[in-house]
Amino acid sequence: MAECSRKEWSGKNSMKTSMEDFRRTAYQVVDWIADYLENSRQYPVLPSLKPGELMDKLPDKAPDYGEPFSAILEDFYRLILPAVTHWNHPRFMAYFAISGSAPGVLGEMLAAALNANGMLWKTSPAGTELEAVVLGWLRQWIGLPEDFFGIIYDTASVSTFHAIAAAREMADPEVRECGASPNLTLYTSEQAHSSVEKGAIALGIGRRNVRKIPVDAEFQMRTDVLESAIREDMQLGKRPFCIVATVGTTSTTSVDPVATIADITERYNLWLHIDAAYAGAAAILPEYRHILAGAERAHSLVTNPHKWLLTPTDLSAFYTRRPDILRRTFSLVPEYLHTEEAARAINYMDYGIQLGRRFRALKLWFVLRYFGREGISQILRSHIQWAQELATAIDNDARFERVAPVPFSVVCFRLNGSDELNRRLLQEVNATRKVFLSHTILNGRFVLRVAIGNMGTTREDVQQVWDLLQTTADRLCSASAV
Ligand code: PLP
Repeated sequence: MAECSRKEWSGKNSMKTSMEDFRRTAYQVVDWIADYLENSRQYPVLPSLKPGELMDKLPDKAPDYGEPFSAILEDFYRLILPAVTHWNHPRFMAYFAISGSAPGVLGEMLAAALNANGMLWKTSPAGTELEAVVLGWLRQWIGLPEDFFGIIYDTASVSTFHAIAAAREMADPEVRECGASPNLTLYTSEQAHSSVEKGAIALGIGRRNVRKIPVDAEFQMRTDVLESAIREDMQLGKRPFCIVATVGTTSTTSVDPVATIADITERYNLWLHIDAAYAGAAAILPEYRHILAGAERAHSLVTNPHKWLLTPTDLSAFYTRRPDILRRTFSLVPEYLHTEEAARAINYMDYGIQLGRRFRALKLWFVLRYFGREGISQILRSHIQWAQELATAIDNDARFERVAPVPFSVVCFRLNGSDELNRRLLQEVNATRKVFLSHTILNGRFVLRVAIGNMGTTREDVQQVWDLLQTTADRLCSASAV
């Protein structure tokens, strides 16, 4: 017995030793993170490696005996780091550029240390109440009314999934017990993100019941076609239940006419969800508030602080004016999760598919407090301004064509010539590893995108990217002329 307690004691001693080790290593790691965030432009944006190369270098079995932090870190620097695509690089301008800001990283570190699981208020009062508070702050900043209830999910895809589930519940409360009813029909634009269709697949709506409404010349949903599609479907015995409008579409960042769409949803009693995953952040700027005009009449809205709001991935802010329906959709409380708290206690597990929840609110709290509304506004305004400057430069170069308006900080353009030529341009520019751009297809043509959204990006970075595009275009055009 005595020996047994000695062993327990020595176990505690070894914990203490390991905490000293942790402290020493953590200081090193923090130093590395600070250097990385300060100098991320020194890395190539894209790694130089072939698929499978990292896997081939790593052991195919986990170690039987623990290894020291020093060995793990050495392999991080030697093997993992060279295989990283640096989303924190100021010339990462693919998809939507993002920022893992220092305050956000601190919030992540503390959340990891607390390891609180916010399934119930009781399991994480701080996580639950901070989530309500920071989502309230953000709601005020983007101008949504007070009756919008907020919840954090991991991604916009998952937020939109929850919106469609709640829309289905509103249209047909029997679905919860009896399974999906056929013919429920959802409307979104042909420029909407694929997550809308994926949500419909996952919820048993079916891809055939997702009507993709055509867009106008500016890539905005055509509301005349939307309304006739709804009428036509009703005559065919279908059951329209949801419209997903986008504020900031993925390809061109176009903005659907939300107020007119809200009128339509009200006329037909449909759920209106707004996907403002990227551009919702711009509504913080008073001069951009208009992009969410009509959103106060939506049933739900998603915006992603992990896109343009300096918050490390992942953190998606979902708002709904009908938390009662969202709760009716997802609440299912087994005995072991029953609690006796006062009504004011929110149990976020009741509002979504997941039970366990990370303490994500902490990093958003750090970000919003550290930068403040003014600090964030300055960064967003610079991004928008540099995108406008790039658009003007493209317009002034007869070899290039700009193919979409630039409402925010994404510019879509192509080099005059074939799709093949444009693919080569993209490949060659990215092969320098000095920049990462991505592409899309618009009106059947291959188009390049420059997405400005990293907080470390400067006007000079944008100029360098434009110089690189021009010199590469020169080379490709003169090679094809030979
Ligand atoms: N909605 C829009 C408009 C997007 O552009 C994106 C991604 O770029 C998404 C949804 C999906 O975002 P997430 O990766 O958070 O699921």
